[in-house]
Amino acid sequence: DWQQLEYDLQGIDGQQYGAYKRLLGKYDHAGPRFTLSVDHVQGDAYAAPSKVRSIVPWSETGFPKEYLDSDVRRIALCDFVSRIAGSIIQAKHLDRNVGNANGGWSGPKGGAFSICMPGAEILPRTSAVIAGDDSIELRFTVSLPAAGRTVLGQQAYQILAVNLVEIVKKALLHANLDKQSLRRHIESSERQESLRSQLSEKGLIAFVSNGAILPRASGASQAPLSGPSVVGFRSPPEMEVTLTSSDGQSFRGMGIPKGVTLLTGGGFHGKSTLLEALELGVYNHLPGDGREAVVADPTAFKIRAEDGRSIANTDITPFIKNLPGGKTTNAFSTEDASGSTSMAANIQEALEAGCKTLLIDEDSSATNLLVRDQRMQSLIRNEPITPLISKVSALYNQHGVSTVIVIGGLGDWLAVANRVIAMDSYVPHDITAKAQEVVSQFPSAINQDAAYGSFPQRSFTVDLQGLKSPFASRKRFIALRSQIRDAVDDPSQAESGVDLDGLDQIVEIGQSRTIAVLLQRIAGQTGAKGLRLNELLKRLEMLIGVDKCSLASLEGGDLVAVRQLELAAALSRLRGAALQVDASS
Ligand code: ADP
Ligand code: MG
Repeated sequence: DWQQLEYDLQGIDGQQYGAYKRLLGKYDHAGPRFTLSVDHVQGDAYAAPSKVRSIVPWSETGFPKEYLDSDVRRIALCDFVSRIAGSIIQAKHLDRNVGNANGGWSGPKGGAFSICMPGAEILPRTSAVIAGDDSIELRFTVSLPAAGRTVLGQQAYQILAVNLVEIVKKALLHANLDKQSLRRHIESSERQESLRSQLSEKGLIAFVSNGAILPRASGASQAPLSGPSVVGFRSPPEMEVTLTSSDGQSFRGMGIPKGVTLLTGGGFHGKSTLLEALELGVYNHLPGDGREAVVADPTAFKIRAEDGRSIANTDITPFIKNLPGGKTTNAFSTEDASGSTSMAANIQEALEAGCKTLLIDEDSSATNLLVRDQRMQSLIRNEPITPLISKVSALYNQHGVSTVIVIGGLGDWLAVANRVIAMDSYVPHDITAKAQEVVSQFPSAINQDAAYGSFPQRSFTVDLQGLKSPFASRKRFIALRSQIRDAVDDPSQAESGVDLDGLDQIVEIGQSRTIAVLLQRIAGQTGAKGLRLNELLKRLEMLIGVDKCSLASLEGGDLVAVRQLELAAALSRLRGAALQVDASS
């Protein structure tokens, strides 16, 4: 019935572009056995590209059966084949750029095929999914070729019947793959998962293996920094622990215990680099990334100041109360938060969403939310802000929420830290004892609250009526264009949307796309009005989580899994009419 594809394309050759719609449906290929499913056909050559899937029966792929045994294996396998397919397509595009005949690999918009190219993390993505246990599929977008407004049947045949088959053969048949790389990909994922799962029972919130390469090639590249200047990670002896992964490998490295940990040291000595490695330690990394044995509490969440964000009815009383004019803060709202209020809200909302480890860098914080020194305490009596330094111990003691904070210049923090790590030329040292000496030598009066205060418990109603379907227009921005024409013509409205720039742990635009789809789901659910955050997340449970392959039921090939923490954070950043939030009673 592959013949049918040829007939169909011959039949519509030279016809109006719309005739491509005839391709909708399925075609079976015989050797190798797979099904081409044409799911969506674009309306014209310049519309959003068409969507196709190639579905290969598991038995045909030759992949070992045990690769289906767990979510982590399936995710790694799908991630691997997505990368292979992506790199074939990229290489073909490059060929074209050096002037080779394009052979149907590139179309009017620069690429007949496209697949979402993965970054440095191994994640569930809809570019490749295992549906049930009996098949694996690749999802592409394809620009179907046209001359003016007419169908180019011959070229379409080259794309769908020749090139696509080549991709299937190279990416989905075990015999043609680099089997060892695939096995390494899977085993590495399992090891990372296994190390991460041991953290909590060992009293740790993170582990950084000796020899890990933490710095990246540049601010724009997630590739590891290379060259003679790179210093491999080496744990301070006092903090060295051994973890054994599920396959029996042991890893020695630095275990960061639960509690309050300070990362200090001079400027440029590698503090932020270590913190960033912890932020991304919630994900599994590619073999060769340098951070394959750097793992963190899966709920670890980066907190930063984010002035300008909107806040809807968030209880920020632990940090800010008694505002001038008697304004209360147990249901605080603003369309334009300051550095300190945004940071207070970010902490409170992370706790609301289940975060157990806060990751904070002084570089991206509001100083007045971190600390208030003795002189300011005696000079300014009516300060509405209680800084984090007064709360961080109670947060751990009462709620078991740990904090890792990069502090270069705020010595008061030494008094509240359970551990102090000093970075010196990229090498960490445990200076806890020395720090405690300094604290007794230069005492300073820090008020430490015995009680942290309350977490927010808001109810959400999301209503996207009157807004076009949300879509990720940048890596960390979801556009919410109004359906009202005037508003679209007004550029300030066109840029309105959910700004996720403050969420450092969103690593791919595909994650923002997933958030957009999930927001739409939430809005579309009847009876999902006025739901508590945890109830709301529960309804989407099957669809959230970077450790589960549960995205398959979502449409499209360009979605990447997110944690519920990022989804919750996006929800909290919806502005105005789209969101109605009730504070807890
Ligand atoms: P800090 O936050 O202490 O000021 P950064 O973490 O920003 O320092 O690091 C400063 C520079 O040093 C960055 O350019 C980073 O890439 C580089 N760097 C960090 N760790 C290492 C390392 N282990 N080996 C080599 N270079 C590193
Ligand atoms: Mg820094």
